[in-house]
Amino acid sequence: MSALTLYDGTIREIQALLDVPGRAALPVGGDAWPEVTDKSMILRGDMAYELGGEGLPAVGCTVLTADEALVPADALMLTGDDLPRLHADTPFARVALVRVAADALGEGQALYNAVRALEYTRYHFYPEGFMLRVSASRHKETVRVGRDALARGLDFAKAGGRMIAAFHRNKAVRAVQLFYVTQPSFDYQALARRAQQVEEITKTIDHILKNAVMDCDACGLQKICSEVEGLRALHFSR
Ligand code: SF4
Repeated sequence: MSALTLYDGTIREIQALLDVPGRAALPVGGDAWPEVTDKSMILRGDMAYELGGEGLPAVGCTVLTADEALVPADALMLTGDDLPRLHADTPFARVALVRVAADALGEGQALYNAVRALEYTRYHFYPEGFMLRVSASRHKETVRVGRDALARGLDFAKAGGRMIAAFHRNKAVRAVQLFYVTQPSFDYQALARRAQQVEEITKTIDHILKNAVMDCDACGLQKICSEVEGLRALHFSR
């Protein structure tokens, strides 16, 4: 059993949370929208608004699977208003469910490194007018949206197309489901809890790889090991 299957239960819960009325499928438009460099900044005076700004919910999450039934093909979904219809800071969530070829990432430390590398894709895509910022708590992901880019037609299809293309630069990636949410009534807290669980699963996999000694009574990871089926089995198997 690949350790990647440990995320599948949480992916199902995330998909159920995101399955809300009003969700729209956007065209997966590719990477036609211009890119800037990692040095480019959108200063406060040049931005139209910030997604997740001013203490509003701002959830960012990337989860991997090898299960084709969970992520059959590329898709881009939006719940709430698209960028041209927004005029002020708004709550925000971004979820990427990424299917990789079975066993393409390896096992053990190689798998852990590959999971982190794919997560860090968010630091390696720079659509013009769409500056992603990640806070120290890692899951808080905000986006400054540039006024000029908005006037030239920036929307989630164009920014999202760039992100999906960035994931596909990794040869192991087979399909990406990318979800954006700006709907004020969405349950961002519930999504943030799932994002936290994904992070805890990744950290526990790392702990298991580095610690051959198994002593559940003395371990600080009992809670996540009780919640996620397969983590204890993974440690026992080592
Ligand atoms: S199986 Fe036990 S020792 Fe291993 S990570 Fe989980 S709680 Fe800790």
